[in-house]
Amino acid sequence: MRLALDAADHSPAPLGVHLDHCRDLDEITACLEAGYTSVMVDGSHLPFAENIALPTEAVRRARDHGAWVEAELGALPGDEDVSTDAVAQAAAMTDPRQAADFVAATGVDALAVAVGNVHGFTKEPVRLDLDRLAALHDVVPVPLVLHGASGLPD
Ligand SMILES: [Zn+2]
Repeated sequence: MRLALDAADHSPAPLGVHLDHCRDLDEITACLEAGYTSVMVDGSHLPFAENIALPTEAVRRARDHGAWVEAELGALPGDEDVSTDAVAQAAAMTDPRQAADFVAATGVDALAVAVGNVHGFTKEPVRLDLDRLAALHDVVPVPLVLHGASGLPD
């Protein structure tokens, strides 16, 4: 936990240290207390109501430390999901109608979206649902985060 903070402290550049994909509020709290500037609370595996409760609590804890919180709605295939078939992938994409409600209810500062992006590299080129991404941009007032961008074609 200290390794990234120490590296940031010794850099001449202003750096933030981010906890990525965490489902554990105790770990989030420990990182906030250590000085992390942002956390990603990942309740994307949970039913919608529980995926509101988890980030809401993370936001409450982060505010005491001046940190910001990213959450995820929808689920990305790859590391964080056992399902990689196309039908399941489409079903797990972020629903723009839910996204605005989710951000308003949780108070998160950034939203990771599932728009066809995949964690890691894939045999076939990944195709993003750009219409869905545009619809999300229209209704979500916080920055959108695109995980799994490393394998995207130019
Ligand atoms: Zn990710």
